[in-house]
Amino acid sequence: MSNKNIIEAKNLIFTYSDVPDALSGKITAAVNNVSINIERGSFTAIIGHNGSGKSTLAKLLSGVFVPSSGSVQVYRENDGAPLDCSNEAHNFDIRKTVGMVFQNPDNQLVASIVEDDVAFAPENLGVEPSEIRKRVDEALETVGLTEYANHDTHKLSGGQKQRVAIAGILAMNPKCIIFDESTAMLDPQGRQDIIDTILSLKEKGVTVVLITHYMNEAALADKVVVIHDSKVAFSGTPKEVFSNKKMLLECSLEPPQSAQLIDMLSDFTDCREKCAINPEEAVLVIEEALKKHGIMPKKGDDNA
Ligand code: ADP
Ligand code: MG
Repeated sequence: MSNKNIIEAKNLIFTYSDVPDALSGKITAAVNNVSINIERGSFTAIIGHNGSGKSTLAKLLSGVFVPSSGSVQVYRENDGAPLDCSNEAHNFDIRKTVGMVFQNPDNQLVASIVEDDVAFAPENLGVEPSEIRKRVDEALETVGLTEYANHDTHKLSGGQKQRVAIAGILAMNPKCIIFDESTAMLDPQGRQDIIDTILSLKEKGVTVVLITHYMNEAALADKVVVIHDSKVAFSGTPKEVFSNKKMLLECSLEPPQSAQLIDMLSDFTDCREKCAINPEEAVLVIEEALKKHGIMPKKGDDNA
């Protein structure tokens, strides 16, 4: 593959309306000069408070919206050809390459029966019927809805609808999937199931972009992008992002609980610079401090 990125977005600007704001007299952009690359096969998390522009950015990256200015290029899987999201002729290939699960599943569901809904998009892509059957069954199994194949979509709970929407995208077999707060409507177990699905998709080589409010989910990503006031405020590894307390505060975001815990214990652990992005790392920092204080035996001690 010639290009290491699957999506390259440059200087994206998107405005919903050309009407100036009544108070400021300015036209406000929902996405304002954002440049972002999504590396093929990577897991990127996008975080930011409500209204910061995450969903708008996701729709630009998946070709649902055309930018007011700037460009989005998606690289086709088989030959690496660049596809331009502003070029209507490229729409079909872009849809085959990048799938997006919308924040509100009601905006995504189209058929009244679950399996018809999941089959809808691959049908539109011209996939063979026998292949569609296989993909629908697999996708419903992946999201744990096999028994609901013949149920009425409108009677499902919000979380179940979200899972039908995810199955619909999985059945398209895209190389990249953008999940817009797909775990928001779910209970902790449902959330974990979706995260497990995302991690197994990544194992299979699918590129994943996850917009989330859950910092412990973002901590699982290869790269975290922080959106604030329609712009990229920061991007880096989870460690770089979650140890940057000043930036997080400015963006009204909190680090994951494990990082907060280690922060609160910093007098005891005496390691102000350390940032634990997950419970395992927090345990290591605490263990080290316990040993240093002689509360827990050090390795190699006689009684260890
Ligand atoms: P986020 O997903 O981070 O919550 P959005 O991308 O949904 O942010 O919204 C960014 C900005 O665009 C917000 O100010 C929001 O009010 C505005 N916005 C979102 N959708 C629309 C729309 N359909 N029409 C007009 N303004 C919108
Ligand atoms: Mg949103």
